[in-house]
Amino acid sequence: MTKKLIPFFLLFFIITSLSAQKKKAATSHETVLPDKPKLVVGIVVDQMRYDFLYRYSEKYTAGGFKRLMNQGFNCRNNHYDYAPTVTAAGHAAIFTGSIPAINGMIGNEWFNQKTGKSVYCVEDTAVKTVGSDSKAGLMSPKNLLVSTITDQLRIANNFESKTIVIALKDRGSILPAGHTANAAYWFDSKNGAWITSTFYMTELPQWAKDFNASKMPQKYMAKGWETLLPMDQYTESTADNQIYESKLSGEKTPSFPHELAAQAGVNLLEVIRTTPFGNTLTKDFALAAIKNENLGKSPKTDFLTVSFSSTDYVGHSFGPNSVEAEDTYLRLDRDIEEILTTLDNTLGKNNYLVFLSADHGVADVPGFWQSQKLPTGILDRSGAITEVKTALKTAFGEGEFIRAEDNYQLYLNNILLQAKKLTYAQIHAVVRETMLKRDDVSDVIDLHNLTNSTLPDYQLNFVKNGLNPRRSGDIMFVLNPSWFIGYKTGTTHGTLYRYDTHVPLLFYGWKVKVGETTLRTNISDIAPTIADFLDILEPNGSIGNVISGVKN
Ligand SMILES: [Zn+2]
Repeated sequence: MTKKLIPFFLLFFIITSLSAQKKKAATSHETVLPDKPKLVVGIVVDQMRYDFLYRYSEKYTAGGFKRLMNQGFNCRNNHYDYAPTVTAAGHAAIFTGSIPAINGMIGNEWFNQKTGKSVYCVEDTAVKTVGSDSKAGLMSPKNLLVSTITDQLRIANNFESKTIVIALKDRGSILPAGHTANAAYWFDSKNGAWITSTFYMTELPQWAKDFNASKMPQKYMAKGWETLLPMDQYTESTADNQIYESKLSGEKTPSFPHELAAQAGVNLLEVIRTTPFGNTLTKDFALAAIKNENLGKSPKTDFLTVSFSSTDYVGHSFGPNSVEAEDTYLRLDRDIEEILTTLDNTLGKNNYLVFLSADHGVADVPGFWQSQKLPTGILDRSGAITEVKTALKTAFGEGEFIRAEDNYQLYLNNILLQAKKLTYAQIHAVVRETMLKRDDVSDVIDLHNLTNSTLPDYQLNFVKNGLNPRRSGDIMFVLNPSWFIGYKTGTTHGTLYRYDTHVPLLFYGWKVKVGETTLRTNISDIAPTIADFLDILEPNGSIGNVISGVKN
């Protein structure tokens, strides 16, 4: 009798302790996760270089960038692997898991040999603006040659997942949205409104109309721009007023306080882009979308992308070492904190999956480097092109040999070459010899004959990845590190050097491991990694790998 009772009591204990564990698990957010994340949130910070995660970290809150870094997975050695490193190419690469050679986004614009005109990456005259009377909505993804991760999610869920993108820049919105998005919204400076195009819808939803009617941009600009913290705490940045910084439209000095005062000839609804309030406005509109579109509330995974563009505008004008840039990142950190807190409250902590990256990095301002005796400079663009044209005429006789120059590439006049029976190699030899006489040019590449290039293999691969034969030029020139085409004030990006390629990549939330890696990851790995999280197929042009160790 007692021999039979012991197993019975044991069984009783096992059952009661198991059910207690189950109850405990049911009340804990950490251990009971939905089968799929309720929402994927892709955050792109325009022009955010990798080091900005650390440079200002003492002044970041615990709930913004640092929450993603400390409670998520940090890919510390994440790079672009093509040039030119610009906004359109970067946003496309993140969401297609691909490269310009395949997805077609070889620049923000390029020259069309057939029409003889420049093409803007997302232009589309066949559609109309929705939400404004301006032409800022004549845009669509028709020039994007492949699918995005958001397209693949829609296809995988038989179009039940909702995908929405919000960005001040049209290209920052349209390219992540892909071809099947429910909505892509961008900002129209003419009317200060969030708009879209008939590619997506015929009328703005009521909540978006209401948001536009609330005139938030005007309210932000009326307050002016003072530093978030007292000025003497901006110890990471150079003194505020520098001759190599650009002035905001309508201002006399490039320094605080930026009064943003209304005056004739200045459109403050355009100037808002070059202040942190452009980002805050983006955050406000994203929160309105989360609420009113019920994102993450349906049985299928939804996907929200938010691209913060003001970091790029501010970076171009004032440079990475400016008080303005630091202040913009400190404020963005708080905006990101607000988004995460809102998602915690509406969807539950760890029920959503976040990734954060950037579309490219940025060079330090040449004027700042020169003040510290570092080698840098601005290419005399028209001088260099004139020298090349003159050399070509001397060698081959009269004619316009160069039709256009864009993205550090020359587009040759093919008809003239045929008429004069000249080969690309002959033209390249003259262009190369001429340009290499300049101290600022490091190499000149025949894009029709990459195997003969003297460029190091590591860099040659970047050129190859960025080259789409139907859209790219014929000859490419590479400048020395920290040299670029630009202006006397401010800075830019676009090269194959580390300051333009090394950008943050953070994963956080649903099934994300806490950790970090210093193994090299590429931008094209993001989309396949998200596809792996979601058990869906990666985009059709993807060349990346699933990053190991990110997923629990
Ligand atoms: Zn830029």
